[in-house]
Amino acid sequence: MAYIFCIANQKGGVGKTTTTINLAAALAAIGQRVLMIDLDPQGNATMGSGVDKRQLQHSIYDVLLGESSLAQARVKSVWGEAAAKPGMATYHVLGANRDLAGAEVELVNLDKREMRLKQAIAEVVNDYDIVLIDCPPSLSLLTLNGLCAAHGVIVPMQCEYFALEGLTDLVNTIKQVHANLNKDLKIIGLLRIMFDPRITLQQQVSDQLKSHFGDKVFNTLIPRNVRLAEAPSYGLPGVVFDPAAKGSQAFIDFAKELVQRFKQEPQS
Ligand code: ATP
Ligand code: MG
Repeated sequence: MAYIFCIANQKGGVGKTTTTINLAAALAAIGQRVLMIDLDPQGNATMGSGVDKRQLQHSIYDVLLGESSLAQARVKSVWGEAAAKPGMATYHVLGANRDLAGAEVELVNLDKREMRLKQAIAEVVNDYDIVLIDCPPSLSLLTLNGLCAAHGVIVPMQCEYFALEGLTDLVNTIKQVHANLNKDLKIIGLLRIMFDPRITLQQQVSDQLKSHFGDKVFNTLIPRNVRLAEAPSYGLPGVVFDPAAKGSQAFIDFAKELVQRFKQEPQS
């Protein structure tokens, strides 16, 4: 049985996709069997895993609408020349592209529309140790499908002035989904990303986060690191593009911390 985690924050551009692809690559590098699901019509997690979103034979859109099984639609991440480097394990990708934007409307009339992803994952769940779902920047029916399928949510966030305010909506949504649709769901942790310790405000917000959320804040900090930002233009996660970069090392540490955490918790 795999642990299934959503990477979610309805705020745009906070590092959800960067977290998803680098965590997927880091988990694969430490020996975990990983499925990465792109639940965002932008398809950035697909492209950032070396998979061309315009060339997908089947995408998550087909899976949600029941036109393809997940086993048929998944592909392997593509590292090209980077695969020659030692330790560059691949992971599986359920890709997305703009078709997915239409799914929202088409799903409305379908039975159990918020459970479609959960049902699809159930078929392949024994193939993996961990499934990561990259959510779009909204609390939409797509995100709801992710939340209904998952055991927990990883929330990447920047330590900025409005960060805590934005969290309230997400925490409330998670509470509602927990109460009504998915009793397994919980916040696994908050991940501080694009962190710059020289900025006093970021330190202050980070301290606030810790006093509000205690050990729900992951110990690992992901620094602001230009190599992580450059890597997607090569169709690679930073962890594969430049394994020695500070940001990549931080994601390896984060993968280890996460594995440690879920080993300690009984699976519900
Ligand atoms: P969206 O809400 O649009 O899906 P997102 O939350 O998935 O966005 P990303 O696309 O991961 O956010 O990141 C937004 C931008 O920040 C990207 O240009 C990315 O390269 C950059 N970025 C993310 N993390 C870091 C980091 N640790 N250091 C430097 N740049 C980063
Ligand atoms: Mg994204």
